[in-house]
Amino acid sequence: MSTPAEKPVREIRINPIVPSESVLISTARGMRPKNAEAPAPRDTRAHVETCPFCVGNEHMTPPMIAAYPAEKHWEIRIVENLYPVLGDDRQNPNLSFGLQQIIDGYGRHEVIIDHNQHGVAIHEMSEPHLALLFGVYRDRMEQLYKSNSRLRYVLIFKNFGPAAGASIPHTHSQVVATPVIPDNVQAEVSNSRAFYHRNHHCIYCSLVDEALTFEVTLYDRESGEIRREISVGQYVIERAKKFIAIKPFASRYEWEVHILPLQHQSDFLRISKHDLDDLARLMRRTMARLDAVLRCAQYNYFLHSLPHDPDDGDCDASYHWHLEITPRTSVPSGFELGSGFFVNTVAPEAAAEKLRAVVLD
Ligand SMILES: [Zn+2]
Ligand SMILES: [Zn+2]
Ligand SMILES: [Zn+2]
Repeated sequence: MSTPAEKPVREIRINPIVPSESVLISTARGMRPKNAEAPAPRDTRAHVETCPFCVGNEHMTPPMIAAYPAEKHWEIRIVENLYPVLGDDRQNPNLSFGLQQIIDGYGRHEVIIDHNQHGVAIHEMSEPHLALLFGVYRDRMEQLYKSNSRLRYVLIFKNFGPAAGASIPHTHSQVVATPVIPDNVQAEVSNSRAFYHRNHHCIYCSLVDEALTFEVTLYDRESGEIRREISVGQYVIERAKKFIAIKPFASRYEWEVHILPLQHQSDFLRISKHDLDDLARLMRRTMARLDAVLRCAQYNYFLHSLPHDPDDGDCDASYHWHLEITPRTSVPSGFELGSGFFVNTVAPEAAAEKLRAVVLD
């Protein structure tokens, strides 16, 4: 007899924060051709002669913005993006004609070279280095927000592996600062504000509480068989003193994991030096779990933090920053693109169990 966890799952799960990002969980094989992205053999070389991001090739990058801890013997370097998606060099007036609208592509696009070693993966970096990296994210966000009041959002993200859109194999993150708030962030901000007004609670804090304390058994009305058991900690992948890594119940991607501060905090800019150390540990361990299960995981991660918009000034109690990690194990199908549904072929419970089972040193 199969346990509830092994039963095929076919259900639509509603994202409690952004319902439009709901997911069809369908673990029945053959639901779609599984266009699995074969794990690309990872380039693990420490140094590559021709790589513009490698030590000794600093002259090959666009102008440098900053280096940590120092320009010589840098561990992390920030440079301009060679092909920026947005720029502050030309400023056109906003235009509209007929039904079409143009907002000037004003903004900033920068590259953070995460490490001076070419092929090092996040879980192979030392915890002090990861603390430095997340501190650099924070500093850069802060400086960009201060640099121009037109900037409403600074998005930090990382593409790792060709399937995740990384065009240069040397490990790096990116910063894009925009004069508009991305739609998905705005939806999170507005919906969590509405939840707060109804419940006087931050929805993200409530989700963390549920993950840590919730237990339920649902029985089938006719047969009396157990239909679903949700047990305490079933969705918790990793826990540190100040942070938690959770597998969302309505995960859009098979191996998606979110990291949140355990104590309410809306703006990533407020993370303390001490908390960065704790985050670094949780991050390294979470990425090690993903790597052990997926073997050379290709992934994106991105940071969602309170936008700097005067209109969102009252969202300090309702919004809660988080890091979304989205490994790329399949390409979206026509059904997904046409319907807007995400299809996830691995039950989040099963994925969480696998990730938790990895033995870390
Ligand atoms: Zn390199
Ligand atoms: Zn909260
Ligand atoms: Zn988010």
